[in-house]
Amino acid sequence: MIKKTNTISFYTLGCRVNQSETAVLIRSFEDNSKFHVLPQNTATDVAVINTCTVTEKGDTDTRKLINKINRLNSKTYIALIGCQSQIQKEELLKLPNVKLIVGNANKMDLSSLMKEIDSSPRTVIFTPDIPRKPFKIAYAGIDKSHTRANIKIQDGCDFFCSYCEVPYARGGARSREFNDIIKEAKILSNAGHKEIVITGINVGSYKFKNYKFIDVVSALEQIQKIKRIRISSIELTTIPTGLLGKMYDNSKVCRFLHVPLQSGSNDILKAMNRKYTFEQFNKFVYEAHRKVPDICIGTDIIVGFPGETEKLFCETFNNISNSSIDHFHVFSYSKRRMAKSKLLINNVKPETAKKRSELLRTLAQKKSKDFRRSLINKGASVLIEQKKNDIWTGLTDNYVRVEVPSSKDLSNKIIKVKLNEIKGQHMSGTII
Ligand code: SF4
Repeated sequence: MIKKTNTISFYTLGCRVNQSETAVLIRSFEDNSKFHVLPQNTATDVAVINTCTVTEKGDTDTRKLINKINRLNSKTYIALIGCQSQIQKEELLKLPNVKLIVGNANKMDLSSLMKEIDSSPRTVIFTPDIPRKPFKIAYAGIDKSHTRANIKIQDGCDFFCSYCEVPYARGGARSREFNDIIKEAKILSNAGHKEIVITGINVGSYKFKNYKFIDVVSALEQIQKIKRIRISSIELTTIPTGLLGKMYDNSKVCRFLHVPLQSGSNDILKAMNRKYTFEQFNKFVYEAHRKVPDICIGTDIIVGFPGETEKLFCETFNNISNSSIDHFHVFSYSKRRMAKSKLLINNVKPETAKKRSELLRTLAQKKSKDFRRSLINKGASVLIEQKKNDIWTGLTDNYVRVEVPSSKDLSNKIIKVKLNEIKGQHMSGTII
């Protein structure tokens, strides 16, 4: 039940786009006098979950979170928004205390939607089709709890990879108005965020009037207080000519690219409806390393896609092993109800997929270690994020987490360090 003044908390599942959207939503509720925003894990009148449905785990996580929220306060009014709400409302309706389900078309208007539904006793659902038109975002996603700020420039996707539900959950590709992006970037940098992370579902497909993705990057570079621009993830076939040039030209663009590969086997890539071969991917990785010293190239791999025989898995393993990919994440294939691959019948047994994941994860650790080893004794700039026991940590532009001992206040500073040695998943550095 919505009262005169309600306490409200926000939870985010899934990707960086969801994180950026939640940050904006929080700002909109801070402006709404009917609500008082409290941190997560406190008993509140209202709890909002920005859901994810990219894998089965995303769905399970929503249920777990709802149980946790209900344990904190059995009368919490739960609002589910985002991808899972868009395509699974019937299932979500059955979950305890879910009073509002809002899809991706309306979720950024949640603050006004909640004003309108004050006294409704039943679960209210807003999941219309998602309009395919450029968009604006009313608030800047200033996030005081994070040093780096996400900025969403694009939404939706037209690629229809066969394993993916995102084009259904988020709709077709559409871009944010160019000036609206620049406006938010200026607000974020004036609020102290030195690093801006460009986010979207398929950012390389950005197109608003005559502006393309590279124009967004160039315009962000011009904002004086922004010191670093990071691209969250970009599809190989959309990487613009000139992006690598910006990295070796000592600009603000971080020497880091996350380019999803998904499989090292051309047969599987074809079945996934990906738009490139492994050779084309590998050529890009090779060129990136040739042109940009110490660039870090990361990727994602899905194991256990239907039809992945032992031979095709070995192809993936060997190709990745021989490539200059610097780090990668491994995901087990997850059958999604709206994805085309659901119809494929030659499924991989879960225990086989598990074994393959373990093999690839061991390879991923080795690659990440090799990359960090190659940086020992080199200089780097680190944007400091937090401190624990007199040890500060932050990220280099090429995505290595560095531990720096210092008694000075280094918070939110970009410092020059010498990288000394590998420390677990991080590196240690000394200020120079
Ligand atoms: S590029 Fe493929 S995997 Fe990525 S969101 Fe689009 S359809 Fe999904």
